[in-house]
Amino acid sequence: MWSTIEAKILRGERLTSAEGVHLLTDASLLELGTLASEVRARKTDPRIVTYVIDTNPNYTNYCTVDCHFCAFYRKAGRPAADGYTHDVEGVMRMMADARKVGATTVLLQGGLNPGIPWAFYTDIVREACRRYPEIMPHFFSAPEIHQMAEVSGLTIRGVLEALYEAGQRSLPGGGAEILATRVRRRISVKKGGPETWLDVHREAHRVGIKSTATMMYGHVETPAEIVEHFDYIRGLQDETGGFTAFVPWSYKRGNTPMEAKVPHIAGANVYFRVLAASRLYLDNFDHVQATWFSEGKKTGQIALHFGADDFGGTLFEENVHLATGHLNRTTIAEIETLIRESGFTPAQRDTLYGIVKVSEGPSALAHLSSDVPLFVESLRELPAEYPAQLEGEEPGSHVVPG
Ligand code: SF4
Repeated sequence: MWSTIEAKILRGERLTSAEGVHLLTDASLLELGTLASEVRARKTDPRIVTYVIDTNPNYTNYCTVDCHFCAFYRKAGRPAADGYTHDVEGVMRMMADARKVGATTVLLQGGLNPGIPWAFYTDIVREACRRYPEIMPHFFSAPEIHQMAEVSGLTIRGVLEALYEAGQRSLPGGGAEILATRVRRRISVKKGGPETWLDVHREAHRVGIKSTATMMYGHVETPAEIVEHFDYIRGLQDETGGFTAFVPWSYKRGNTPMEAKVPHIAGANVYFRVLAASRLYLDNFDHVQATWFSEGKKTGQIALHFGADDFGGTLFEENVHLATGHLNRTTIAEIETLIRESGFTPAQRDTLYGIVKVSEGPSALAHLSSDVPLFVESLRELPAEYPAQLEGEEPGSHVVPG
């Protein structure tokens, strides 16, 4: 089947579901990587790998949904010592922290907390745009949009139109997990089937809000269900063209209710396969993101040779993976070094994948590598000597928790 797939890809033809499953199960990993790199080079500048300076704070960790893979939430209605819900000014302080570290994107999400009034959501978008025009609000996953529809009495379309009117132009892809009914019934039954996520993104694209398509794999799904996920997002992209990128990451087990039910963690081999398969299968996506954060820095570097053209964000603040015991930090200098070491030229991008600034290419390693004193892989605790203060940050304004 590989030679048929290869010939189809080289002719620019679309793959079938059976061919997608073959990529995930039987194809040679290195051949897959080579072909995915070739397709990536047709879509984006093959010399450039982009990244975004961003933070990923949260406005509440109270939630009613009880996803089995989530270690982040505290049960809504049961006050917890470490539970929190920020008000508008609390969110603006997070925006101010993001500005101090040079962020151009703030990916803000929260649990589904019915105690939060509808006005809060539009207020934080409007205020963020007014006070921090240099930062794009990349706020609210699809389940949060459903929560807003519930508290406001508006339709999904009505909620998204109000957010657009407040200034929102970009929506993160969280809450997709695996878009397959059987999987969602097992790991996040209260979120509903694939259509609940797809409806939000379809309507977002129709009102003029771009979004990312994400996927969290490595738990109870089968390869066919990963391809089903690909089919859903490829179909919606055909319909609207509103996705900027595809962003897969693996499930992190620590402290989550289904930890014991998932005996094997998905490692780098599966990650490269998923990434390359997505690049070949999702023929209408321009960008595929490799994540240093979730899969580790060295894995992230190699992923750039499996079809990815983007290295994700700096994620100067992150709490969801942290709750599972997964800790990973970086600096802008380190991200650029990792990209150069992989043989590419780093370029800072904005939320919608426009290039902000192209840096020096791999040849700069000779004189810049001494600016990156440490190379820290994914760890539960940072070494004491790791910089406590990030570029652009003032003493005492440390945004990284813990
Ligand atoms: S993943 Fe999101 S919706 Fe699910 S329990 Fe966690 S915070 Fe709630």
